[in-house]
Amino acid sequence: MRLDAPVRTLKGVGPRAEEEFAAKEIFTIGDLLRFYPSSYDYFEQPMKAEDALPGNHCTLSLTIIGTGGVFRKGSRSISHFEGWDGSSKVRLTFFNMPYLKQTLQKGTSFVFRGVLRQTGTGNKYLEQPWFMEKSKYSQVIGTLQPVYPVIKGTGTARMRGFLAAALEAVSGNADFLPADQIKKYDLIGRIEALRGIHFPTDRDNLQKARKRLIFDEFFSFIIGVRRQKQEEGKQADSRPMKTDGSWCSRFLKYLPFSLTAEQAMAWDEIRADLAGKTLMNRLLQGDVGSGKTILAFLALVLCAENGRQGALMAPTEVLARQHMEGLTEYLKKSGLPVRPVLLTGAVKGRERREALKSIADGSADIVIGTHALFQEAVDYHDLGLVVTDEQHRFGVRQRTGLTEKGKDVPVLVMSATPIPRTLAIILYGELQVSCLRKLPPGRMPIKSLAIHETQRGRAYAFILKEIEKGRQCYVICPAVEEGESQEIENVTDYSEKLRAVLPPYIRIDSLTGRMKPDGKNAVMNRFSSGETDILVSTTVIEVGINVPNATVILIENAERFGLSQLHQLRGRVGRGRDQSYCIFLYSGKEKPDRLEILEKNSNGFDIAEKDLKARGPGDLFGVRQSGLPQFALADLYEDSDILRQASECADEVLRLNPGFYCPEERRVDYSTI
Ligand code: ADP
Ligand code: MG
Repeated sequence: MRLDAPVRTLKGVGPRAEEEFAAKEIFTIGDLLRFYPSSYDYFEQPMKAEDALPGNHCTLSLTIIGTGGVFRKGSRSISHFEGWDGSSKVRLTFFNMPYLKQTLQKGTSFVFRGVLRQTGTGNKYLEQPWFMEKSKYSQVIGTLQPVYPVIKGTGTARMRGFLAAALEAVSGNADFLPADQIKKYDLIGRIEALRGIHFPTDRDNLQKARKRLIFDEFFSFIIGVRRQKQEEGKQADSRPMKTDGSWCSRFLKYLPFSLTAEQAMAWDEIRADLAGKTLMNRLLQGDVGSGKTILAFLALVLCAENGRQGALMAPTEVLARQHMEGLTEYLKKSGLPVRPVLLTGAVKGRERREALKSIADGSADIVIGTHALFQEAVDYHDLGLVVTDEQHRFGVRQRTGLTEKGKDVPVLVMSATPIPRTLAIILYGELQVSCLRKLPPGRMPIKSLAIHETQRGRAYAFILKEIEKGRQCYVICPAVEEGESQEIENVTDYSEKLRAVLPPYIRIDSLTGRMKPDGKNAVMNRFSSGETDILVSTTVIEVGINVPNATVILIENAERFGLSQLHQLRGRVGRGRDQSYCIFLYSGKEKPDRLEILEKNSNGFDIAEKDLKARGPGDLFGVRQSGLPQFALADLYEDSDILRQASECADEVLRLNPGFYCPEERRVDYSTI
């Protein structure tokens, strides 16, 4: 069966499952097979409680020696059990599972897994541990079990059933890579790799599966880029803009700062593109906080002066609004006759109708928004420029809309992902790239510190001191709600915990990606206006937010995040004149190398280069590294060796067969940066 056959054609996938899959952008069998596990559970040999480190994950084989009964606490029920591992007692606590007393009876033995905690008096306990009957556990010891991102209505077992059916359906498919290339790069077959990623027989099998799939991701990407380059030679002519007007210099004159040398150079490049005869397709790369936004504004003003409309697309509601506010203020100061409008999913009713009308009749000169900008109902009078901010954050489908509307329109893409030059050349060849490597003057480098989570108290004390100075603070947790994974700090519970330990006058708010746009905006507005002291958030905050009064960012479970993501997160602070701080809290025995790199370096490009040199083996068993989310498995830094091989292979394959067909080939227009 073909990989692009609809998932519906699989046995057992009914309309309900189809809908649930669609919500995760799984439409075809190929999509399903590429819905990779986010991590793997390794069923380790149980250890003794006395050898386990408090605060760490442990696996204990315990016999139940006592049941403590069920208590009610508000709406919650709490049950306690006493376990014995042959030399120590461990208490087991469960919430809202009163029925467990039927299972965990005195004298029975189970294997429990969870984070070992210790009371002040040295009593060990596990909260809400995972458990399995001892005899059953002995059958899975040493195996790897994939953990999938949550799909509503589809548990792991059901998911595995679907995946097995999908693998079965495609098992006869031929590999798209020529056999001699597979051999040359020491790869396993494509189908074998898909099986290995979902049903690994052991770690070695998983490694090999990952290598092949990562290779394929890079390979199809590079084939796409190469082919696109051939096509770009034939691309349509642009409508050159006039650049001898006065609006941009007037705009610059009323800015509260002057452009840095790098910004001025990038602006020259962008202006020359817009004045030129070939269509602009430029990437503006700049570290977090390097001041990319102002260049977007300048390009948009120039476009308006030429009588055309410009669009600025941001990946989030909050960021779009922030850009709107910034631009409106600068325009007001300069007194230029330019009218910006905002169009996002949250702009509704009359406001929306008016925005749409002004875009259609041309009275709106600049349109700022989210991907709503390129939905069908939006009709441009004369679209002359498209700028996308934080391009790497957009989903594939959101980007397609943009390229359709923005056909033959100059494009400026802004990205804060520092790509080392060596990699950029492999990936994009000689494409148009402007770079901001330095931060504007007057910024103090952020002081960074990685500490073990057992030192959390110190971090809190520090945060309190900063808040007392009038500053604000971000706290980042990886997961949203309890249950995604127990040991990961989560936003909902975390906010509660913070409230309990901090003085009552500290104002705490929380933000997650799952909130409705209006709710997110309200939270962000409260934070940027200083009504909130601490904002507890998932990584949604990573994208472009600018609150100069925030001087501390505390990142929980820092070991869960990739290097570039941590760097982006850190970039939320250090945006004002005050000294800013970043505290990485990690669990586990050793400090991950990347935290050390971050402690010692503040420049994103330096970090990327260093990482490339000092890269250790990939963090295979951690949650997927999501520094550059356009690849499902591959990480440009961690997997740069494979990238090099894939690039060499793609060139070779295209040389021998210029019409080579690659089933997952991707078109890029920088959208995958
Ligand atoms: P990013 O590149 O991360 O999008 P921003 O455009 O948000 O960065 O800029 C970060 C901050 O730096 C903003 O507060 C902006 O006003 C300020 N800024 C930008 N350019 C300069 C400059 N040349 N001098 C001083 N401050 C600047
Ligand atoms: Mg930005």
